[in-house]
Amino acid sequence: MISISHHGATSGVTGSCHELSLAQGSQKRGILIDCGLFQGQDEGRSASASDLSIDFPIEHIRALVVTHVHIDHVGRIPYLLAAGFEGPIICSEPSAIMLPEILEDALKIGFTRDRQLIERVLRLIRSRLVPVPYAHWHSVFDDGDCLLSVRLQRAGHILGSAYVECDARMGDVAERIVFSGDLGAPHAPLLPAPQSPERADRLVIESTYGDKDHEDRETRRYRLKAVLERALEDGGTVLVPAFSIGRTQELLYEIEGLIHEFGGELWGDLQIVVDSPLAAEFTRIYRDLKPFWDAEASELVRQGRHPLSFEQLTVINSHEDHLNAVDYLSRSHRPCVVLAGSGMCAGGRVVNYLKAMLGDKRNDVLFVGYQAAGTPGRNILTYGPRGGWVELDGNRYDIRARIHQVGGYSAHAGQSDLVEFVSGIPFSPREIRIVHGDQVAKLALKRCFQSLTGTDIIIPSE
Ligand SMILES: [Zn+2]
Repeated sequence: MISISHHGATSGVTGSCHELSLAQGSQKRGILIDCGLFQGQDEGRSASASDLSIDFPIEHIRALVVTHVHIDHVGRIPYLLAAGFEGPIICSEPSAIMLPEILEDALKIGFTRDRQLIERVLRLIRSRLVPVPYAHWHSVFDDGDCLLSVRLQRAGHILGSAYVECDARMGDVAERIVFSGDLGAPHAPLLPAPQSPERADRLVIESTYGDKDHEDRETRRYRLKAVLERALEDGGTVLVPAFSIGRTQELLYEIEGLIHEFGGELWGDLQIVVDSPLAAEFTRIYRDLKPFWDAEASELVRQGRHPLSFEQLTVINSHEDHLNAVDYLSRSHRPCVVLAGSGMCAGGRVVNYLKAMLGDKRNDVLFVGYQAAGTPGRNILTYGPRGGWVELDGNRYDIRARIHQVGGYSAHAGQSDLVEFVSGIPFSPREIRIVHGDQVAKLALKRCFQSLTGTDIIIPSE
């Protein structure tokens, strides 16, 4: 029997971890697709943001396939190793470069401060990495009449992101199962858009924006411009909570474009601060991996532009410089955009900026990514515009800063992009499992798929 089960991302958008297993009598072999961290209120069987240990059997798991290196897809890898997982970690070539970096950061924050232990875990992770080029079949196991191969295809979500095609065969039964991972919006800057799979008998699809469409690229770009201009006219700081990978680089790319196009006093004086060593490191990796950029970005490079390393960009590394920057920017009246993580304000340097800046109406907070229920980001977005408050590290902070949201920089496909991804598959899957979304989004996407004939649409609950 070839079966799919879920160990996370069924009650929310974090903790992504799915299993594909092939069972024959007492023999069982399987793979995991992602092994992510839970955030906010999301939880698995018994695991949650406060207890991340692996809560399902792994003796039969032969490999872990990583769709992309966002922490909600890879953050539990150290716990998987601690639970005794001995198989390879299969991922795209860019992901193999980025994964140790992101896990080093995650280990420091959530696992241990013991440098030697961190080094040991990282060495172990590096030794398990198996980078696989896009669009190439890779055999995971082949035990006579029970075999499984995987192929990664570009997902357009962040650098290195992939959806996973799995060819599973048991005796006479052969199936193509596709796991979407996180899919990017087709018009996202920097990365090529995902193409639909050529075949999918069963499909597990994300639904982060299953109930919403994004603004198109131009509208969004002008909205970003308008928000920044309005915010900067009164001399405050625009704080953008952003994940280190993906959104930060997309935003830098767009802001460079706006500076190039509009120049002038305002744009010419604008300082962009990336206050995150990790984001700076990933921006460097993005710059190095230009072969994975899309045609538009490659063309800019040919024209001599440097979309991810322009003059007005400053990077802050040390913690001391970070504290100085918070202090300076909360008092200064210079137009400045600060990008800092974490993207949902649940931790990281952005929290210090929020504490220092939420109370001043000259400042602005611009959300560009999804804010999960229960995170401070969601609370600021919900209560900020009504003059409410938010709790950060146990204290209440009144929100006087203006709160904005620009939808399209989510790095996630919108509803119609998800529908297009599925309708582009030549023969409709016989089963679609909708995961990785709030209940409302999953139900909305389910309604979109209802017109597919012969397709079972399932919203798994564990
Ligand atoms: Zn992601």
